Amino acid sequence: MTTMTPDAAGLAALEARLKQDLAWLELPAKSWVPRRVVDGESVVDVVIVGAGMAGLVASAMLRRLGVDNQLVLDRARAGEEGPWVTFARMRTLRSPKELTGPAMGMPALTFRAFYEAQYGRQAWQALHRAPRTMWMDYLIWYRKVLGLPVRNGVSVERIQARSDELFTLEISEGGTSRQILARHVVLATGRDGLGGAYVPSLCDGIDRRFWAHSSAPIDFERLRDRRVAVVGAGASAMDNAAMALEAGAARLDLFIRRADIPRVNKFTGIGSQGVVHGFAGLSDDWKWRFLDHTLKAQTPPPRQSVLRVSAYPQAHFHLASPIDDLVVAGDHLIVTTPKGRYATDFIIFGTGFKVDLALRDELAEFAPHIRFWCDRFPAPDGMDNAELENSPDLGDSFQFLEKEPGACPMLARLHCFNYPATLSHGKLSGDIPAISEGADRLARGIVRRLFVEDREIHFANLKAFATPELAGDEWQDADVTHQPAE
Ligand SMILES: Cc1cc2nc3c(=O)[nH]c(=O)nc-3n(C[C@H](O)[C@H](O)[C@H](O)COP(=O)(O)OP(=O)(O)OC[C@H]3O[C@@H](n4cnc5c(N)ncnc54)[C@H](O)[C@@H]3O)c2cc1C
Repeated sequence: MTTMTPDAAGLAALEARLKQDLAWLELPAKSWVPRRVVDGESVVDVVIVGAGMAGLVASAMLRRLGVDNQLVLDRARAGEEGPWVTFARMRTLRSPKELTGPAMGMPALTFRAFYEAQYGRQAWQALHRAPRTMWMDYLIWYRKVLGLPVRNGVSVERIQARSDELFTLEISEGGTSRQILARHVVLATGRDGLGGAYVPSLCDGIDRRFWAHSSAPIDFERLRDRRVAVVGAGASAMDNAAMALEAGAARLDLFIRRADIPRVNKFTGIGSQGVVHGFAGLSDDWKWRFLDHTLKAQTPPPRQSVLRVSAYPQAHFHLASPIDDLVVAGDHLIVTTPKGRYATDFIIFGTGFKVDLALRDELAEFAPHIRFWCDRFPAPDGMDNAELENSPDLGDSFQFLEKEPGACPMLARLHCFNYPATLSHGKLSGDIPAISEGADRLARGIVRRLFVEDREIHFANLKAFATPELAGDEWQDADVTHQPAE
């Protein structure tokens, strides 16, 4: 599909329609947050860290609600935010093409509208899934047509709390550092936003030339004619295995801990507006039950990704094969599993991401104060689950909560709008399906807080407001014009 020539006029027409739709809806709403200047510096109402899908929708939603003094910062170059054109290695998205994800309920902002405008209805009908790089093109377009205030090449190095209910963000841009003042900070920092890549401790001490995590840049050309191993059975493991095979790997061993590859996509399967809006209303133990069951069932890799691997006779699927030992033997590795020993030249870990605040320098000041589920909720019997225990325990607008009340009140203004929020809010802050609903919940919470905090200014405005709607000539006082009868 991507080889078809896009119709620029079609896209321009869609943009005109979107402009009209926004005008008809009187969007964005008028700006209403009083500007603040502190020590001669203007304060940004909301800084969003990360301009991936979540950061873009959060920004669009805040703007829709009239919060326009905001910034979206991303260390990636423009058009390279998130995984899509960096380490994502699937051909198409896993999600159905029809998902309206970031569109905020606006038909002209959907991926379908973007696609059909350029390639036509017939091509849409023939399309199986959104091609991966086209999804990135869509996010680039989304940001452009909404005029979102994104700044690329800006890394947020440190977030610090001041005593006057503001944050100082230390940012680095083009080799120089400077500071920004902000009232609220939203972490839209992605799947690894509270930690990093998870790699088993087996790799400790093993030279990096022998291994990589699936989220790292990998030169697949270098794997031609080599023996490659991949650990895991998720989507990323399959896609990395496929890339190695397509690059000409001589042999590919896929080591899967389980005795079978997960086949049923549980939580997605029961997806509905009930789950989207109702999950946050569950009691803690019910939230835990739902997600413990989901995580233990695991998410299957997409069928197309598995077929992409199994199409090669060089691919060997090893089930019930956790890696017991990994050692360097001269110029290669020896992998030991309960089923045997395997020589390989390079090993890729498709083992996902972990929460570990020690890996996020920008959060160092807050790390000791952030409350996690394990700090207050004992896992129910038979449901121990490290991933859930290490989930941040969040408030109703994705804000962090304090481990010890009163120890770090600024956490109430630091919002965690990324994947680890799932146990508190459901899947509203990472994947495509309900990202607009998540951003709506986040933005409304920030709006409420900004308004309440500025109540004295708003009340002073109320008292000072004196623009009359009536001129006083619309009626007459009956007692002045008609003398009452004696
Ligand atoms: C390989 C892969 C495939 C996926 N496929 C699908 C799919 O098919 N369907 C689906 O629904 N979901 C999918 N997902 C899940 C999800 O949609 C993506 O992870 C998506 O990118 C989440 O968007 P995000 O904005 O939360 O994070 P990201 O897109 O990762 O964006 C986070 C951004 O934050 C920036 N950042 C982080 N820290 C800082 C900092 N300190 N300073 C400045 N910038 C910073 C990063 O540079 C990055 O651009 C996939 C995920 C992966 C990893």
